[in-house]
Amino acid sequence: MNASSPFDILAFDFGGTRARCGLVARDGTLGPARILKRPESDDGPQWLERMLNEGRWLLKESAAPPKALGVSFGGPVDNAGHIFSMHVPGWESIDLRRRMQEAFGLPVHVDNDANLGGLGEQRFGAGKDTRNLAYFTVSTGVGGGAVLNGKVYRGTHGVAAEFGHIAVRPFDPGAPACDCGKRGCVESLASGRAIAREAKRVRAEAGLPELAGLGADQVFAAAGRGEAWALETRATAVAALAHGVASVLCVLDLPVVVLGGGVAQAGELLFGPLRTKVEEALPVVLRGRAQIRQAALGDYSSLLGAAAMAMDALA
Ligand SMILES: [Zn+2]
Repeated sequence: MNASSPFDILAFDFGGTRARCGLVARDGTLGPARILKRPESDDGPQWLERMLNEGRWLLKESAAPPKALGVSFGGPVDNAGHIFSMHVPGWESIDLRRRMQEAFGLPVHVDNDANLGGLGEQRFGAGKDTRNLAYFTVSTGVGGGAVLNGKVYRGTHGVAAEFGHIAVRPFDPGAPACDCGKRGCVESLASGRAIAREAKRVRAEAGLPELAGLGADQVFAAAGRGEAWALETRATAVAALAHGVASVLCVLDLPVVVLGGGVAQAGELLFGPLRTKVEEALPVVLRGRAQIRQAALGDYSSLLGAAAMAMDALA
């Protein structure tokens, strides 16, 4: 361990299928860390206890104890710190903050993974040069976070920046239904799941054979080769995402929008057409102003954002 940068923070990141924990220094350096895949038999409480043990194991490796905990959770977190999970049973019964405090005897700060992904990118990643950005995480679903003046903007009820549920075609009965209860959201048109579903539909309509395990990565690769079915599928997703990005820019006039998550790993095959469409969707006064960037921290945006949140509370 580097004596000039002690690992002041123990950070956790609970996703739907994986969780991470790690010791983090104030400059964002990630020290010893663990990643675990959730056994399917684990409910929320069992999964939490397993990760607490991983955290205890990390502390044994650490020369000096951390000063605080930062926790990222892959579901809504209200302003009282209550958590909700649509994917893993049992989380709702847990007072996550209190359980963590009991386990480690340290101050604990909890927020949603997309909010913290944005904070992580702003502090240590693709948005280091600005204090204001919007973050979209595009993977199975579409999450969002708004960082304003270097802080996560949580809104009145803790559910600000739900960019995945910006309405693109809410009144179109033909638009796909969304998990949030309406239809035609950014998420139901541009998430990894939505792209796979649309690709299947477009291929069937074109009389092409079904592809086993067809996912967004294959769609972008095929679009790069100029295949018509993939270009059409990509255009639907890009239009929805551009609508979302432009809507956020219209509200907040931000200098930077960062996109992370598995779908954003398509790189220029996504960002190229997206930048063009965002410009089209913006009023003239906002065109050419914001930069749209790929996330720089990979799978660690939220973990490092959780650490940044805990550090801010110590300062
Ligand atoms: Zn929705």
